Amino acid sequence: MLAHVNPDGDAIGSSVALSQFLQKLGHQVEVMVPNDFPGFLAWLPGASSIHIYDKEADLCDRILESSDTLFILDFNQFSRAGNIKKKLEQLQTPKILIDHHRDTDLSLFVGALSETEVSSTAELVAETILHYGGQYLDESIATNLLVGIVTDTGSFAHSIFRADTFSICAKLIEKVPSYTKIHQMVYDTFSENRLRLLGYAINNKMEILDEYSTAIISLDKEELARFDYQVGDTEGVVNYPLSMNKTRMSVLVTERQGMVRFSFRSKGDFSVHEVAQKYFNGGGHTNAAGGTLYCSMEAALDLLHRVLPEFKELLNKE
Ligand code: 5GP
Ligand code: MN
Repeated sequence: MLAHVNPDGDAIGSSVALSQFLQKLGHQVEVMVPNDFPGFLAWLPGASSIHIYDKEADLCDRILESSDTLFILDFNQFSRAGNIKKKLEQLQTPKILIDHHRDTDLSLFVGALSETEVSSTAELVAETILHYGGQYLDESIATNLLVGIVTDTGSFAHSIFRADTFSICAKLIEKVPSYTKIHQMVYDTFSENRLRLLGYAINNKMEILDEYSTAIISLDKEELARFDYQVGDTEGVVNYPLSMNKTRMSVLVTERQGMVRFSFRSKGDFSVHEVAQKYFNGGGHTNAAGGTLYCSMEAALDLLHRVLPEFKELLNKE
């Protein structure tokens, strides 16, 4: 069971839930991610047994080589497998995809559950479990799935394309003692530094380009270090500029080890997937996408400003 680099709530929640379900059916299953996941997911039941390739590459290689099936969850391009990418390309092991991203190359997989009109991979896993083995749904599986769905929808604020999302969640919530508690465990866990970084990002670093209905926040390594940046601390920052009526697209640009990461969000039918795919080695969904450039922060921001005019008309539509 393999999820994407920089794993988020959906990557972790969906893969742990599916592994627990398959274990109940008698299969031997291991969950693996390329690098560490944010601390606000560490409490999830089963998260402690996830293998992190960064930390134990040899063991992970042995697991990958001895597996007879690989499940690929919450990503559809091998480039999203981080440091496992090469291994994944070499392995002849049959691969099964469960994912909700666009532009899937189905020829890479022996089987695929690839749906873009669902909120999350966790929703797809939940629907599958409810359909084939609802009797196996327990508190642990339901908790993991709810976290996947709640994080990928920004607490049911976006990426809801069908009413079924709610009926599936209703069945999951029946299995947990308190949905409110789950929400708190995910969202009310900020360190003081993280909240102050958010304040700084919005107050000091948000650039508004009215001409393009766009907001850009950039945070370089020095700024992140100043707030004692921990994995996951910039999660969600990109959403805030969209809360202004006038904003159609929001971009968060962060400097990482030897690279620059882009997070794109949009409202309505403006597709940040197209922007991320065309210019930033990335992709994702219509309203949420990401990308990576291996260049300086200055060059990254320069490119971003240079591509905006191409999208001006679409950004200002309606
Ligand atoms: P985030 O901004 O939260 O990192 O990512 C937003 C969405 O875009 C997520 O659904 C994520 O899976 C997708 N995404 C992020 N980075 C990349 C990337 O580099 N390539 C592709 N294809 N999708 C990405
Ligand atoms: Mn997802």
